[in-house]
Amino acid sequence: MTLPPAALLHGPLLEQTGVFRGNALLLTGPARVGKRDVALAVAAQHNCTGTRGMYGEGCGVCPSCRAFAAGAHPDLLVVEPRNTTATGKAARRKLIPIGAILEGRDQGREYETHVFEFLEVRPTFRRRVVVVDGAEYLGQEAANALLKLVEEPPHSALFVFLAEDVRAVIPTIVSRSARVSVTPASDRAIERGLTLGGEAPDPELVAFAAGRAGVLAEREAVRAALGDAAEFTRAVGEGMWQALEEAGRLEKCWDAAWHPEALRFVWRTQSPHARARADAALEALQSALEAYANPGLSFQVFALALREALE
Ligand SMILES: [Zn+2]
Repeated sequence: MTLPPAALLHGPLLEQTGVFRGNALLLTGPARVGKRDVALAVAAQHNCTGTRGMYGEGCGVCPSCRAFAAGAHPDLLVVEPRNTTATGKAARRKLIPIGAILEGRDQGREYETHVFEFLEVRPTFRRRVVVVDGAEYLGQEAANALLKLVEEPPHSALFVFLAEDVRAVIPTIVSRSARVSVTPASDRAIERGLTLGGEAPDPELVAFAAGRAGVLAEREAVRAALGDAAEFTRAVGEGMWQALEEAGRLEKCWDAAWHPEALRFVWRTQSPHARARADAALEALQSALEAYANPGLSFQVFALALREALE
């Protein structure tokens, strides 16, 4: 799958990050706006050994850029939260634990490479880059361990923190980082991203994306979710048995990442009143699923509530 290059969607931003000389960047922006792509493009530009592009982006052909394109760059470490189950509780929460930073501190050995050890090694190319995707999930202990590294990074390493909501990030991390917002791209840029990928223009997908490049990256899943959402909404309007039958089908293909948003997108043409009630039904479904309620029953209740909402 060809992704639109970050330079196409976030060129001016890369111009800024290309001349950045500090130790830590904090990229903020809505979910799926393309923060991760930008972070990887920053890592590429800071390691590029060739002639950089018009926005200061990596040249794409030097050995470092080729390593990035192959998805195996020796100077890049991406740290993400894991789902941990709090002892005695069914609820799961996302967390970047201290075990992600220091070796020997992770009981479950979930993290193969640790930030501390990663930064002890000299860069193969120009600069080691640690991308923390989900900075809001850094535990206090992990953040404290990171702070020392951020203040005096070994071998001038670069930290790139990504967060949706800056208010959820531990303030000591925020205060030591230069903040850059990643804003949604224009519809035209998203369209060009699609056409560059060799695809026909798709107005529905472009409207759904609303400038979020991450939607393009997962367009197969998004298209499927949009199709399911339209089919389900149509069946719900047809009759109770159709609604219940489709509820079973929706349960089987349910993708929590895309189906809720796809449903809301399909309902955008409904009256505000109907939309509010449909939203409430969807929220009830999501809470029920999070609380591990019987999924079959939860989807049936949802279908019936939606039937009433869209009457
Ligand atoms: Zn290069």
